[in-house]
Amino acid sequence: MKSLWIILFLGAAAGAAEPPPHDILFGSRRFIEYQPGALPLVIAAPHGGREKPADIPDRTQGVVDMDANTQELARAVVEAVQAAAGGRPHLVVCHLHRSKLDANRDLSEAAQGNALASQAWHEHHGFIDEACRKAVKDHGVAFLIDMHGHGHPDPRVELGYLLNAADLAQDGQVLNSPAVVQKSSLRLMVEKRGIPHMELLSGPFSLGALLEHEGFPATPSPGKPVPGTPFFRGGYTIFRHCKAEAGVTGLQIEAYRPRLRDTAASRQRFAEALAASLKTYFVRNLGTTLGVGRAPK
Ligand SMILES: [Zn+2]
Repeated sequence: MKSLWIILFLGAAAGAAEPPPHDILFGSRRFIEYQPGALPLVIAAPHGGREKPADIPDRTQGVVDMDANTQELARAVVEAVQAAAGGRPHLVVCHLHRSKLDANRDLSEAAQGNALASQAWHEHHGFIDEACRKAVKDHGVAFLIDMHGHGHPDPRVELGYLLNAADLAQDGQVLNSPAVVQKSSLRLMVEKRGIPHMELLSGPFSLGALLEHEGFPATPSPGKPVPGTPFFRGGYTIFRHCKAEAGVTGLQIEAYRPRLRDTAASRQRFAEALAASLKTYFVRNLGTTLGVGRAPK
């Protein structure tokens, strides 16, 4: 027994050398968690919750299965980005199971009339708004990643810019046209940074290219600019929050499961790959570093 206490004490002492604790805010009944950050990066995990309170009835319409391990994946990305960039991204996590709330849908489908679920939905998007506003105030831009998991047969990371496979199959001239850019979650970088839309979708410094360079097959990317189907193009959260006029851009990331989000070691490898990709992406496409300093004018 005595030796056990010594081990516990040593564990506590080792913990003292870790980074100082960060703020964690919660909404009502801790259904929604918000960790404010210091970087121009906001990560949300709407479908990784496991809580099933008895006083919220099960949703009767829409998808009710969770995206397994995506909460843990989002947390791993936060830690990997902190290690790579020296500051924490903002993190918003929905702890409610998807059978109780689908935070990536409009309110009526998300909460299906339940008052507690509706309140959590408002808090989830309120925290994302708050995080994006702070990132824009601190850095001039916010990059939002809504983290999901898919079970499609093709094991590729699906990058949802609000464009479906048919949209992405159009030729470059059409993809670069204002009509398509208007729909895209990457609009800010086209309009404010002057980068052709095609370059952002599947050029050599697109997120798909950078992730593939780090060993994770992705689409759209230079190797697969047009996704096969089924393909998730991005949902309510990206549509609602990625507004160029508000300084917000980003995407929905759909992570496959085997060797990416199945184990802690897999998640760690992907988190490090994404952090490295984002460091390059921010400099090339957003004109700022993924760091705590103010964006250059
Ligand atoms: Zn999802």
